[in-house]
Amino acid sequence: MGSKSGNLSINSENIFPIIKKWLYSDHDIFYRELISNGCDAITKLKKLELMGEYTKPDDMEYKIQVTVNPDDKTITVTDNGLGMTAEEVDEYINQIAFSGAQDFLEKYKDKANEDQIIGHFGLGFYSAFMVADKVTIDSLSYREGSTAVHWESEGGLTFDMKDGERTEQGTAITLYLNEDSYEFSNEYRAREVLDKYCSFMPIPIFLNNEKAEPQYDTIDKEELTEKDTIVETVLEPAKTEEKENENGEKETVEIEPAKERYKILRRPKPLNDTTPLWNKHPNECTEEEYREFYRKVFHDYKEPLFWIHLNMDYPFNLKGILYFPKINTEYDSIEGTIKLYNTQVFIADNIKEVIPEFLMLLKGVIDCPDLPLNVSRSALQNDGFVKKISDYITKKVADKLTGMCKTDRENYEKYWDDIAPFIKYGCLKDEKFAEKMNDYIIFKNLEGKYLTLKDYLEAGKEKHENLVFYVTDEKEQSQYINMFKAEGLDAVILPHNIDSPFIGHLEQKNEGVKFQRLDADLAGTFKEEVKEDDEAFKKEADSLTEIFKKALNNDKLTIRVEKLKDRNVSSMLTVSEESRRMQEMMKMYNMYSMDPSMFGGEGETLVLNANNDLVQYVLNHGEEENTPKFCEQLYDLALISHGTLQPERMTKFIARSNEIMMLLAK
Ligand code: ADP
Ligand code: MG
Repeated sequence: MGSKSGNLSINSENIFPIIKKWLYSDHDIFYRELISNGCDAITKLKKLELMGEYTKPDDMEYKIQVTVNPDDKTITVTDNGLGMTAEEVDEYINQIAFSGAQDFLEKYKDKANEDQIIGHFGLGFYSAFMVADKVTIDSLSYREGSTAVHWESEGGLTFDMKDGERTEQGTAITLYLNEDSYEFSNEYRAREVLDKYCSFMPIPIFLNNEKAEPQYDTIDKEELTEKDTIVETVLEPAKTEEKENENGEKETVEIEPAKERYKILRRPKPLNDTTPLWNKHPNECTEEEYREFYRKVFHDYKEPLFWIHLNMDYPFNLKGILYFPKINTEYDSIEGTIKLYNTQVFIADNIKEVIPEFLMLLKGVIDCPDLPLNVSRSALQNDGFVKKISDYITKKVADKLTGMCKTDRENYEKYWDDIAPFIKYGCLKDEKFAEKMNDYIIFKNLEGKYLTLKDYLEAGKEKHENLVFYVTDEKEQSQYINMFKAEGLDAVILPHNIDSPFIGHLEQKNEGVKFQRLDADLAGTFKEEVKEDDEAFKKEADSLTEIFKKALNNDKLTIRVEKLKDRNVSSMLTVSEESRRMQEMMKMYNMYSMDPSMFGGEGETLVLNANNDLVQYVLNHGEEENTPKFCEQLYDLALISHGTLQPERMTKFIARSNEIMMLLAK
């Protein structure tokens, strides 16, 4: 052919600003586009081969070669796929490549600022101009008798085309990087980008740095293959050892004979895994394979707890593996990663339009060739098909968990503490998930056993119908826990941040059931019954309240007198469930500045035990000089057994305790 020049056949001035905008945050994506084009070209040729329309030479292997030259600031992506004739370059690159862009323009005219566009738009090839001033294509079609073609374009607005020099079928695309993009010709940067986008592409990808010193290995003769390039034959001398013979003389013995070894050019290793585990049938995957895949993809040294292998062909195509990661401590923030692929080409992490938000606490990969990725994210959100995918994934996760609870309760309990925050979050976020999981939420009780809500309510039916006592902090609430245990009462342990909203959720889902922290009130079982007409007790209670009110001088505190069965307990503090929850909510929404009394006070009640000797002492010595100190001390003790004292109170408490001991010492 003669040479040909021309303008690219669309209104480029409109398109380029948009492409630039589109790719602005993700300049590195050009690597993905060019390499996936190469993969496509090879996949097509493989199909032709299967159909008998092409015969692959025996010594040829399908591959993508990426070559960077950090000195010249160039990148070349070469494939040995089906290649293009001059006519095809004209059609696919000069004309068609932009039609996708035109579609894009048509659809998103008004939203041209949308910078969240993902995936293929037929803009693929032209993404090269994001990073390159000049791009060349050298291609030879697989068809017999084809002529090689050379295409080049500066700036992507005009092109020149002429006969080329390529001799192997396939395509080489060379980018002459612009000043802002030199980094992409750096080998390490290139590897980083390729690892991100190309780790599981279906054709082996090799990265080569033209400017790097060659690397060598020395190998034994048996390891040598025809493909190795021998640089040097190395003669290794025999290995010897000094030994004593029968006569006690030293002797040199040969333990390994001299041998020839070979210094070879280091064999190139593909940087991708062309057969990712998610494509294998679950029945054919071993546990070790799952674990290794996890380590490799997520660089997590902690073992995953368990996983779900998704494998679906109908009504849509979806494969993937979701791992439940091990959470280190209850304070660890849990943050997962779900990597989304389209036919082994990485699209993005954590696309919340496709993957339910709560599932993003997991780590996993999802490959969905049917995903309409050539639309914007906001379009994905309203896509019914995407919703179906999301529902399917949620259902599979719930099925796995409920199945495990039913058939492998032992492990379910073992993992519970780790998976509970995830499940609870899921229940809060997803109605359907919550419904499926409702009967499979378990609670650790005071003995460390796991119960369902039903089990717990059944066991406590006589003493506290429909009332669930819970502990949020086993250390702080230990005094109450001991009292509960002594009375044969049980409580469940709900220590995580998520438990507070989750309790609200449970109360909504299970009508009539109430949750109450065990320090919220004193259950009837701890008290002796006081007769209605017990005037003596009423009088006692009134004077005690009076004495304490005066001594403590705190209007927000309620004082109550009870006859507790345990005579050793002098004073206790209870915090009403409602005001505590209100305060927790305010903390969550950072409403510190608001006065809790707006919502009915702090809700703190000081309970005094009329059966206790110290309390009786205060009652009988109400007017004495030291009585206020007794009151303060009893209040502080109640506060301490409920948690800790505020610094100022603590200082006073210590001083007063010393003073009291001094009195004893006298
Ligand atoms: P898409 O891949 O979505 O079709 P691209 O802009 O990436 O859009 O590529 C446009 C077209 O150019 C491809 O459909 C293909 O026909 C052709 N093409 C691009 N790169 C190659 C290649 N390496 N080998 C053969 N054909 C290619
Ligand atoms: Mg493409």
